[in-house]
Amino acid sequence: MKFGGYAPEIRSFEVHQINETLMACLSPVGEVVFLSPIEVEQLLRDPAGLPAATVRELKSRHVLKSAGNSPGLDRLYAARLSAKRSIAANGPELHILVPTLQCAHSCQYCQVSRAIDSEGFSLTQDQLLMACDTIMDSGASTLTVEFQGGDPLNRFDLVEFGIEALAHHHNRRGRPVRFVIASTLHQLTADMCRYFAQYDVKLSTSIDGPAWLHNKNRPIPSRDSYDRTVAGIKLAVEVLGSESISALMTTTKTSLDHPEDIVDEYVSLGLHEIFLRPLSHYGFARRNLGLLGYTTNAFMAFYRRALDRILWWNDRGVPIREVHASLVLNKLIGSFDAGYVDLQSPNAAGSAVLVYNYDGHVYPSDEARMLAEAGDTSFRMGLIGTPLTTLLASEAAQRIAREGSADADQACKACSFKHHCAPSPVDAASLSGTARPTASTEHCLRSKALFGEMLQRLVATRECVGSAEVVFHAWASPAGQGS
Ligand code: SF4
Repeated sequence: MKFGGYAPEIRSFEVHQINETLMACLSPVGEVVFLSPIEVEQLLRDPAGLPAATVRELKSRHVLKSAGNSPGLDRLYAARLSAKRSIAANGPELHILVPTLQCAHSCQYCQVSRAIDSEGFSLTQDQLLMACDTIMDSGASTLTVEFQGGDPLNRFDLVEFGIEALAHHHNRRGRPVRFVIASTLHQLTADMCRYFAQYDVKLSTSIDGPAWLHNKNRPIPSRDSYDRTVAGIKLAVEVLGSESISALMTTTKTSLDHPEDIVDEYVSLGLHEIFLRPLSHYGFARRNLGLLGYTTNAFMAFYRRALDRILWWNDRGVPIREVHASLVLNKLIGSFDAGYVDLQSPNAAGSAVLVYNYDGHVYPSDEARMLAEAGDTSFRMGLIGTPLTTLLASEAAQRIAREGSADADQACKACSFKHHCAPSPVDAASLSGTARPTASTEHCLRSKALFGEMLQRLVATRECVGSAEVVFHAWASPAGQGS
C-alpha cells in the first residue's frame, strides 16, 4: 500500500499491516513508525490532529516534513536520500576477486564445481593485474576487496600478489581499501596471519554448527573439516585478534532442527557474529534441490528459533549479533545506511559490486557467476581487462538496471519494502529460459519474510521493554557491518 499526496506536509510513505490494530508506516528513506489504522486515517486527513508526540515521531522518521521548523531534520532526510542514491553513483565499492576455484571440500550445497590442484581453474597474474586496474578505476571513495573461491588460501601466492598490487597501485589516490578473505582457513599459517596484519586483512570463514553437522555439510577426505577450521580460527584470533575473524553458516535441511545447537557453537567458539544464511539455489545446490531444499517458511521457522537463542545469550551478557537482522534493522531504525549491496533499490548488482572470476570474466554478482557454473552465462559483463566504463554499460548491466528496478515491477510497485529492496534479475533467471516472476524468487520471499519478522520483533520490544530493544538498536548501527 502506498500513501502520499494527501497533504503537503506528508511525504509519500508505504504501509505494512502488522496485525488488525497496528500498521508500520515506512518513509521514503525506509524508517518506520507504528500507528493504529485510526491514526493512519487521521494522518491522511489532518496530521495536526494527531498527538504532539506522534507528530514528532513522524517528523523524526521523515514521514512528515518538518515544514522548515527543523533544518537539522531536513538535512538528515536529504543526507539519507542522497546516501541511498549515491550507493553506486561514483562507481563500484565492492570488488570480489575469485583467484582460484581450487578447494578440497565437496560440500553438497556448493554452488561451484570445485577443482583440486587443477590447471586452468585459477587467474593468471596478468588477469589479476588487469582486475586490480579496473578496481582502482572506480571512483568510489572507499573500496572493499573480497577474495573468494574455491578457497583463495590454496593460492596464497595470488592473494599476496593481488593485495600488493592494490595496496601500492598508482591510481589508489589515498583511498582506504578494506581487504577480506573468505576461506575455510585450513591452509592458514602464522606467516600468512603476520602478512595479513600489515594490511588489516579481515578473515571470513564458514562454521555450519557443531562438529558433526559441520563435517556432514562440508566433507573433506580426512573427515576433519571442523577441527581444521576451528584451528584456523584460533590461530587468527591469536595473531590478529578476535575482531579479525567472522563466520557464517549455510542452513541445510539437517540444520533446520538444530538452531540452538548452531548458535551455542558460535558462542562456545567466542564468535561475536553469526550470519544465518539460507541455502542458495544455484549450481550444485540447484541440482541437489530435492535432497537439500526446503521452503522459505521452513527457513524462517529455523531463523526465529535461532534468533530467540541469540537474544537469550545477549540477555545473559554474551554479545552476539545476527547479520541478517542487523542489516534489516539498519534500514528500519538505523541513523545511517550501512550500504549493504544486497538490500538496495534499485538492484546494485553490476553497479555497486563487480566479481572478477577465475574463468576470466567479470560478473555483476556472486550469484551470477554461480549461475554461469550451472550453464547460464548471460550475465557475463565482459572479459577481465575490459575498461570499467564498458563493463558498466554492458548488456548484462543494462539488463539489471532495466529488470532490477522496483518501479518497473508490478509486485515491487505494490510492496511496502521497495525502498530497501528491488527485484533480482539474476534470481529470476531460469535455466529453462523462462524468467520467474519476482514474487516467486527466493530473493523476494526471503526479503519479505525478514522485513516482516523484524517489524514484528520491533513491535514486541515496544510492548515489552527489555534488553532486546537495546540489542536491536546496537545491531542497527552501521558500525562493524560489512558490505
Ligand atoms: S523483490 Fe519482493 S520484497 Fe523486494 S521490493 Fe520487490 S516485491 Fe518487495
